[in-house]
Parts: sequence; C-alpha cells; structure tokens
Amino acid sequence: MAFSPEERQRYARHLDLPGFGGHGQEKLRAGRVLVVGCGGLGSPALYYLAAAGIGRLGLMDSDRVDISNLQRQILHATPDIGRPKTDSAVARLRTLNPHVQLSAHNERLTAENARELFAPYDLILDATDNYASKYLINDVCVAMGKPFVHAGISAFCGQILTVRPGQSACLRCVFPVPPPAPAPEAPAHAGPLGPIPGVIGSLQALEAVKFLSGVGALLTGTLLTYDGLEAEFTPVHAHRNPACPACGTGAQPKE
Ligand SMILES: [Zn+2]
Repeated sequence: MAFSPEERQRYARHLDLPGFGGHGQEKLRAGRVLVVGCGGLGSPALYYLAAAGIGRLGLMDSDRVDISNLQRQILHATPDIGRPKTDSAVARLRTLNPHVQLSAHNERLTAENARELFAPYDLILDATDNYASKYLINDVCVAMGKPFVHAGISAFCGQILTVRPGQSACLRCVFPVPPPAPAPEAPAHAGPLGPIPGVIGSLQALEAVKFLSGVGALLTGTLLTYDGLEAEFTPVHAHRNPACPACGTGAQPKE
C-alpha cells in the first residue's frame, strides 16, 4: 500500500535517506515490536519507534506514574502522576503519530503470560528494570526463537545486546545466572542519572529500526557497554556458550 501524502511528508527524512528510503519505511510500517517496560528505557525507545512509523507497537507495564519517575521517564508528564503508565504512554504516542497501532498490556510479565504476549511480535525490547524480568524475557525468547534486544542500566552505566536465538549469544551465554540479590543492609537503590536510560533506550530503538529494515549491523554477538561518567562505549565480544543454561546444547526447555 502506498504512503498517503501526509505520511510522505511525515517520513520525508527517511524516504529521502539513501540506503533506507521507501523500502526501509515500508519495512517499518510492516513491523511489530513489543516494548516490555514503559519507564526509563521504554520512554525513549517508544518515542523513537512511534515517531519512525513502526506499524504496531505493544506497550507493557503494570505500574502507575510516580512523581519520582519523571526525572528520567520522559514519556510521562506531571499531570500523569497516578495514571497507569500504559495509559499515559498511549496518550502521548497517539498524539505523536496516529498511524501507529498501539496495543497496551497493563499487566506484569510472568512465565505464564510471556509466550502468548510475545507471539504476535517480530521483536521484543527488554526495557525492564529487574533481573527476574530480564532473565524471563531471555529464556522465553530463546525457547520461542524470538529475537529480542536486552538492555540494562545502573547509576552511571548501561549495556545492550541484541539476540537472535540459535544464531547469536543470549544473555545467559554471557551472564549464566543473575547476580545475587543485595544484602538487606545494602543502601537503597539510587540512580540512574536521568540521561543514562535515554542513551541506552535510544540505542534499543535504533536496533529495532535496523532489525526491521535490514540496514546496517546489529549488536548480535557484541555486548555494548556504556560508561556515562567516562563517556566511553566499549564493545565486548559475546560468544555463544555451548554450556549456556538457556541456549546451549544441553539446555532444558523452560516450558
Ligand atoms: Zn545462551
């Protein structure tokens, strides 16, 4: 289907971009991406994906907007405090680009609902803020053969890895198990510095655009780390681990 005159104007910078053009834009319009988490990482990722004209965007989050979120979760605004994050996100993204189909999932990701939620999408973005969800997304995506983009942030740092199950290293190939939970006497979680998830979430959106359009090289087999204080990106080779508990030769199916 041809782009409407309004769409041609909206996406003019993509349509005129050598190496991307109408072909790339059509691929974006045919694409379906689920973003798990509408917080610090999900905010920039969803903004850029909606702006870019992804055909269908899924948004998943079970939290409500809190005033302490607004220092970094730029998809939400002061009048949204108390609203479900998915409602706030859908309202903002709809005004940005009415051509994008938005599917809101106001629920928590669990081992029970993950497979059904992931099935309709081409790519999953891990924009969650806890290890349990990150390893759950990894294990379900690996079991389903579903490509996904892992990301994580701490106070001043971040990391990102794109995974094509069966072809490139998964999260457990690099970090077989989550780090131990902090001791109860450890200081309360602080940070991150607001722009850190902005950098990493934007990179996730770029990975999704490249994955769907087929342009460029993905961060498969490369864990890219970012140190915001030193202003340093470091690519780290991520090899598939034959002993990986998720995708290794002896891995047990998780379901
Ligand atoms: Zn693996």
